[in-house]
Amino acid sequence: MKGKTALITGASRGIGKAIAELFTKYGAKVIAPTRKEMDLTSSASIAAYLDNLDQPIDILINNAGINILGDIETISEQELDDTLQVNLCAPLLIIKKVVPQMIKRKSGKIINISSIWGQVTKPKRLAYSITKSGVNAMTRSLAVELAPHNILVNAVAPGYINTELTQKNNSSAEIEKIKQTVPLKRLGETGEIAEAVFFLASERNSYITGQTIVVDGGFTCL
Ligand code: NDP
Repeated sequence: MKGKTALITGASRGIGKAIAELFTKYGAKVIAPTRKEMDLTSSASIAAYLDNLDQPIDILINNAGINILGDIETISEQELDDTLQVNLCAPLLIIKKVVPQMIKRKSGKIINISSIWGQVTKPKRLAYSITKSGVNAMTRSLAVELAPHNILVNAVAPGYINTELTQKNNSSAEIEKIKQTVPLKRLGETGEIAEAVFFLASERNSYITGQTIVVDGGFTCL
């Protein structure tokens, strides 16, 4: 990772923070814009931030995401728009902005943080599932498109991870129940997601592209 520059979204807490810490530990230069610097609900904010970035990005990690619970009857159009924008359109726009200089240098790694709810689903995850399935499709398409330029594109799909997002969307009693449904009988830790991301972004990964790697303690195997 020494000499590599990694752009990581949503690194203020949770999974993004753990990724940023691991990359920094192993010598990468981490660029982690705050929401104030690059607000993913605004395409103009994304463009302004990235157009002003004066250094090439070797590794892009689209990590920031939101999960607004709701079903077809209760979710508002605004909530649907926000979820699509932050989880799907923003990562795509960031990739579009970062890729030209990766193509020029014939090298790059892109990792999108997806979710198990992109493969399976659960009540009230309608908008979230749509966007994470979209992230998986985007990952496959871009991997094929960018392979001739030596740019590898993958996704990591976490299961239940011990973060604020999980605590917000599930009560303590629900979390205890969830643990029993995971073959490893516990939530994952943010550092365990960071390890998978780190491998995919490292020089050690030279042949995996277009994949969504599920890191869920075996949850989706059942
Ligand atoms: P958190 O809710 O803990 O953190 C979300 C991060 O995204 C924060 O840094 C937040 O910034 C940032 N963010 C949210 N909205 C915006 C925005 N509009 N503009 C800029 N930044 C924004 O999330 P997690 O760490 O739990 O999740 C990270 C990723 O992992 C997400 O893509 C999520 O979908 C995915 N995931 C998480 C799972 C889990 O169990 N936690 C399971 C499966 C997938 P700020 O501090 O400003 O709010």
